[in-house]
Amino acid sequence: MKKISILSLSALLIPAFLLSAKEEKKEADPLIPPVVTPGVHGVPDKAGTPPSDAIVLFDGKNFNEWEAGKGGEVKWKLVDGAMEVVRGGGSIRTKRKLGYGQYHVEWRTPEIVKGSGQGRGNSGFFPLGGPEVQVLDSYKNSTYTHGQAGAVYNRYPPLVNACRPPGVWQSYDVIVHAPIQDKDGKYVRKSAYTVLHNGVLIQDNMEVGGQVGRTGQLALQDHGNPVRYRNIWFRPYRDPIPMKRK
Ligand code: MG
Repeated sequence: MKKISILSLSALLIPAFLLSAKEEKKEADPLIPPVVTPGVHGVPDKAGTPPSDAIVLFDGKNFNEWEAGKGGEVKWKLVDGAMEVVRGGGSIRTKRKLGYGQYHVEWRTPEIVKGSGQGRGNSGFFPLGGPEVQVLDSYKNSTYTHGQAGAVYNRYPPLVNACRPPGVWQSYDVIVHAPIQDKDGKYVRKSAYTVLHNGVLIQDNMEVGGQVGRTGQLALQDHGNPVRYRNIWFRPYRDPIPMKRK
């Protein structure tokens, strides 16, 4: 019979929770990038899913994470796994304050086109309360460039117009960069937006102001048009991991 050494026997007797604690400790090493299971991107017929470390702000089921723009109950409605602006219901905002980091949202302007210019599928996405990343049906719809879809409203037109037709789901990925200070605390750059519209870069690191440590609610605009939203999530800013040469 094969002898079992005292060493291997003791290994068998180590409780499982101690082993898992050891594993967790390994994952918590700040010099090792933590593992994140990515979600999938939404397509026009199907909502995407968030990455495993995201704070899910809207999964199509309820308004638990949301309140009216001035507090109180949300007056928008839930339709087919999305939320829809109700005219006169007012803008809405997240209950929780968020900060710099990565925001994701899918949105859809009405299939039946009504109005023109700023009156066509207008809503808005306001990370940390603003400035606004314009939501608009900009598909063959002319308006002033700093007010079209993907504009940082009244500041920066988008680099290109990557808008899908009305009634088709689209996405924004909005990275709100934390400000950068030099060693004396002087701002080298204030907060900035980078925006991808349907995966296309439309705002490239555009400064919008915002101090270190700023937090605020994400808001969505009621501009009177029944725009829909789904799959909204946020991942907080992470400090860069320093290079460690062996
Ligand atoms: Mg707007």
